[in-house]
Amino acid sequence: MQQPLNTPLLPHLDLLTQGLQAVSAWQDGFGPYPSAPELDVPVDRAGAILADLADRLRDNYPFHHPRYAGQMLKPPHPIAMVAYLMAMQINPNNHALDGGPATAALEREAVSDLARMIGWEAHLGHLTASGTIANLEALWVARSLHPDKAIAHSRQAHYTHARMGEVLGLRTVPIEVDDRGRMEISDLLAKLDTERIGTVVVTLGTTGVGALDPLDELVPLLRDRGVRIHVDAAYGGFYRLLADLAPAPVAAAPFKALAEADSFVVDPHKHGLQPYGCGAVLFRDPAVGRFYQHDSPYTYFTSKELHLGEISLECSRAGASAAAFWATLQAFPLRPDCGLGAVLQATRRAALAWADRLTASEHFHLVMPPEIDILAYFPTTAGWKASAVSEASSRIFEALMADPDSPVYLAKLVLPKGLVAPRAPQLEWDQDTLTVLRSCLLKPEHEAAVPWLHDRLEAAARALT
Ligand SMILES: *Cc1c(COP(=O)(O)O)cnc(C)c1O
Repeated sequence: MQQPLNTPLLPHLDLLTQGLQAVSAWQDGFGPYPSAPELDVPVDRAGAILADLADRLRDNYPFHHPRYAGQMLKPPHPIAMVAYLMAMQINPNNHALDGGPATAALEREAVSDLARMIGWEAHLGHLTASGTIANLEALWVARSLHPDKAIAHSRQAHYTHARMGEVLGLRTVPIEVDDRGRMEISDLLAKLDTERIGTVVVTLGTTGVGALDPLDELVPLLRDRGVRIHVDAAYGGFYRLLADLAPAPVAAAPFKALAEADSFVVDPHKHGLQPYGCGAVLFRDPAVGRFYQHDSPYTYFTSKELHLGEISLECSRAGASAAAFWATLQAFPLRPDCGLGAVLQATRRAALAWADRLTASEHFHLVMPPEIDILAYFPTTAGWKASAVSEASSRIFEALMADPDSPVYLAKLVLPKGLVAPRAPQLEWDQDTLTVLRSCLLKPEHEAAVPWLHDRLEAAARALT
């Protein structure tokens, strides 16, 4: 049997060649033309430049390998790479239909798939350069609806919300979190009474620890008060798929409540197998398109001929991104039991398996059970004083990365005392924060790697003593 297309792309250059040739055949149909000598690069010169580049690129971390269990990083799936290169050969601009009708149609289809995933039929939405831009756009629409009201977000929400509040000239109100890093409803209710809040940012999968704010409980409370709900699910959004499994391997209620949100952000360049440059923002009410209006009539936005540039703050956008995401969704449909759902089931299993090992460990303390696939943990071999734990976290982080034979790459995270203390009463707080270790397990390959990753961790902790 032929080897299936999986990482890496290299054994499948025939697919790449085939794809590029098919696009070339279409381009060649427009007839031959003399090429401009100004653009010539001698082949040996190009080879030398690319060899230099390959050398420069060695200054990197092995994001593709299970031994990299740190930040939210991994290479895209090869199907996305091939699709991106094919479309890039044309380089359509999804700003406008005349920048590339084909990729505009692919973008609409891919965004409709995202809308269906969260239970929306009608919607307005598009791909963006990133989660940051997608959130900015959602907050900008929120400001148009509640011009002089504040935006509330939890203290564990992405820092972009406070910063974009500054950009938009909006007040932002931080809400306290509970011992699982979730927005505390009591604090939100208190602040709703005193702070003139127009929109609440609910995070499904915080960037730090992957916490799920209680969207299902917040929806009725906020609806009653006429408060807008924006869900930042840049990292965790695709876990919505697993909420339909029985039993669901994630908390189903917050994810199912996405159907009731007003706007939604997800990053296909995190869990959607895409290269960077692919975020998405969706609005449940297509009529918010009126806020984007600059030179076309309002009725335009409800027509089928959606002009993506008319509903986006960004102008030029890579049509190749839409092509890559669309092709990926054909191979990995948004289903719970196969496609992207099967990938996320594996990453979720990896997180649960490692969490079990960390819970049973003599040398480590798990900060909290993972809601999705992000683990936060700290070594206790150097005692329970916050400064000593923080120091030991940093030393393990450095030592594992520096191992010449078999390095392991983790991330570090600084957590406030209030979040950690209730679940770790043994800690002595000689400082206000704790530096812990953090692993985002966003590769399904992590599942098989958990036992040896954990053994490496244990060995590094023992070596501290
Ligand atoms: C990653 C992330 C962002 C920022 O998205 P970028 O694509 O990095 O710009 C915003 N919110 C959350 C919850 C995230 O995880």
